[in-house]
Amino acid sequence: MAIEWLLLLLPIAALSGWLSARSHYKQQQDSQKNAFNPEYFKGLNFLLNEQPDKAIDVFIKLLEVNSETVETHLALANLFRRRGETDRAIRIHQNLIARPTLTQPQRDQALVELGLDYMNAGVLDRAESLFLELLAKPSPPIQAYQQLLHIYQQEKNWLQAIEMAKNIQNIDPDNIGHIIAQFYCELATQHINNTNKAFTFLKQANKYDQNCVRAMLLEADLHIAANNYRKAQKCLLHIEQQNHHYIAEALPKLLMCYQQLTTLPAFEKWLNSLLNQHPNLTSARLMLTKVTQLQHGSQAAQDYLHKQLHSHPSVEGLHTLISLGEPSNPVLVPLIRDITSTMIRHGDRYTCQHCGFSGKTMHWHCPSCKRWGTIKPTEIHLSALETLLESP
Ligand SMILES: [Zn+2]
Repeated sequence: MAIEWLLLLLPIAALSGWLSARSHYKQQQDSQKNAFNPEYFKGLNFLLNEQPDKAIDVFIKLLEVNSETVETHLALANLFRRRGETDRAIRIHQNLIARPTLTQPQRDQALVELGLDYMNAGVLDRAESLFLELLAKPSPPIQAYQQLLHIYQQEKNWLQAIEMAKNIQNIDPDNIGHIIAQFYCELATQHINNTNKAFTFLKQANKYDQNCVRAMLLEADLHIAANNYRKAQKCLLHIEQQNHHYIAEALPKLLMCYQQLTTLPAFEKWLNSLLNQHPNLTSARLMLTKVTQLQHGSQAAQDYLHKQLHSHPSVEGLHTLISLGEPSNPVLVPLIRDITSTMIRHGDRYTCQHCGFSGKTMHWHCPSCKRWGTIKPTEIHLSALETLLESP
C-alpha cells in the first residue's frame, strides 16, 4: 500500500479511536466534551509540513487502545510490517501488549504478530522465546508451532522441527507427514555412519510417509555399505511403486546391485517392463542401453538406441549413441559429440514442480520456495548416467 493511503488512514483512525474512547468516558468527563486532543492537531501539523514520519508517530500514540480499536492497531502494524517498516510494527504491537485492558485472545494475537515482526527483522532468538511463551498457554495458536517450525528448519534443528510438525499435525493433520519424513531423512543423513540409529530414523520417515523416496534411497545406501545387495535392490525397486519420477535416482545404484548379484538379465527385463509402463523415462532407456552394451556388446546397444531415438528423441540419447559409435565416423562425430555434451552440461537436471526452480544438483528442500519434496529429476539430463555410459 502506498504511503499516501497510510497517511490518509492514520489521522482518521486516530480521530475515530479517540472519539470512541472519549464517548466511553463522557459521563465522567462531561466538562471536556468539546475539547479536541491538541496532539491531533500536532499530528496534522506534521502532516501538512510534510513530516510524515513524525505525524505517524503522533497518530499512533493518539490511537487509544480499547476493544474497538485493537483491530485497527493490528491492521496498521501489519501494513507497516508489509512495507518493511518492522520497527514501527514492533512498537505498535509492544504498545498493545502492554495494555491491561486486552482480552486473552487479543493479547495472544498481538504476541503472535510481534513474533512475526521479529521473524521479519531476522531476530530469530527473540521470536523463538516469544513463540515458546505462547506454547505454554492452554491452547496455543497454530502459528506459534508453524513459526517455531520455520526457525528450527533454518537452524537445521531437526528434532525440534519434528516436535513442532507433530504438534501441527495434531491440530491440522493434512499435508505435513511428508515433511516430517524429510526431517527424519535429514537425521538419518547426519547419523549415516551409525547404522542402527540411521535405520531407526528411516523407519520413522517411512511411518510418516510411505512414499518417501529419499528414505528408500538412504536405506538402500545403508544396505549397500553393508554389502547387502539383495536388500538394497528390494528398496530401490520399491521406488517404482512410490513415485516413478524419481527412478532416475535409483538406477545407477540398481545397476550396481544387479552386477554384484550377477543377475543383469533380470535387470534388463525389469527395465523393459518399466519402459513399457512409462515410455518417457529417458533415464531408464539410457540404462537399458548400458545394460545391453554390457551383455550383448556395443553394436547391439547402438542398434537398440538408434531404434529408440526415432520414437523418443532426446539429447542425451543422441549423445550416447554418438559416443557408442565414435570409432566409425572420425570427422563428424567428435563435432556433434561436442555439441551434445555442451547441451547436456548446460541443461538443468532437476526442476521444482512447485515454483519451477531448476538446478544441477538434487535438493530435497527447494532452495527457492522452501518446500519439501517438490524437486524432481528432469527426464532430460542425468549426470550420473552419463558418467556411467561414458565409462568403458
Ligand atoms: Zn520450489
